[in-house]
Amino acid sequence: MREKIIELAKKCDADIVGFAPASRFESDNPIFKIFPNTKTVIGLGFRILRGIFRGVEEGTTYYQYTTMGVENLEETVMPMALIRVANLIEEEGYIALPQRKSPLILNEEGTTNPEVDYTDVYHGVKAENQLDFLNCAVACGLGEKSKIGSLLTKEYGPFIRYCFILTDMELEATPLATPSLCDGCNECIKACPGCAIKEDGTTDSWRCAVYYNGANGSKNPFMPPEAFAAFDYEKKLEIIKGTAQFTDEEAKEILDNIFFYPPAKHFYRTSICGRACDRACYIHLEEKGLLTKSFNRPFREKEDWKLSTEQFENYGKEKKDE
Ligand code: SF4
Ligand code: SF4
Repeated sequence: MREKIIELAKKCDADIVGFAPASRFESDNPIFKIFPNTKTVIGLGFRILRGIFRGVEEGTTYYQYTTMGVENLEETVMPMALIRVANLIEEEGYIALPQRKSPLILNEEGTTNPEVDYTDVYHGVKAENQLDFLNCAVACGLGEKSKIGSLLTKEYGPFIRYCFILTDMELEATPLATPSLCDGCNECIKACPGCAIKEDGTTDSWRCAVYYNGANGSKNPFMPPEAFAAFDYEKKLEIIKGTAQFTDEEAKEILDNIFFYPPAKHFYRTSICGRACDRACYIHLEEKGLLTKSFNRPFREKEDWKLSTEQFENYGKEKKDE
């Protein structure tokens, strides 16, 4: 059955498949609340196409990452693979519970998910019974946990999304990945256009949301000169430069003033930062020759681009100088 599961999952576009026996989880792990008879957690990893990141890397197209790299994977490809693999398991007389991340229910209080509208995030319920997705991925041997809490796989680095199936079928375990990729280089931290990741690797989700959505004018080709005109002139410039200090409530106000990219008529917000943290990590791992999936050209072929912020400095300056 193990080989059949891998074969079907790969037919359904999973790139990495891993198996974690129940013994790898503490008895109070959510997997046992969700399904007390869990014997195996099956992890399915789906690469985010490297080409999908090219548009943001070049500063040309932004739509592809969100629609193809986030929405299509999460809402179409991954559920389809989950259903088909789960059906195969249930055909054999075992139970299979597909587990995909709910982007709207968060484990940590007072946080947000940059990939969705903050007003959609549901705070009325505690997500105690949602899997700890990252640790499940590590337990399934899909990859290692990085300094900033992303999953790094030896094949695709951080360009990966993942989901799981809980089953009462016993399946041979996949060995855990030996941590060998993240060297604490901090390239991910330096790459964030909004300084959303602290030195210790923790991310301020509200800062991330603000800059994921494109508040840094030097990294947003769509920002018009009048952007953030509702804010005090100095504050506006700090927001646009990525250096502003703001509370969670102020982050909401900034997000409410980001309307200069054609709004996606979809559930997920368009990523204007283009996951600069993950791209920087990918480039670092590729340069070190650590990724097993190689390409005939390096991902970054020229120096990273940056736009002038002069137009924002000029807008409203006269009023301020009056
Ligand atoms: S860029 Fe990658 S390897 Fe370097 S610290 Fe960040 S996560 Fe680790
Ligand atoms: S680079 Fe983008 S996704 Fe990464 S922490 Fe910064 S804003 Fe968030």
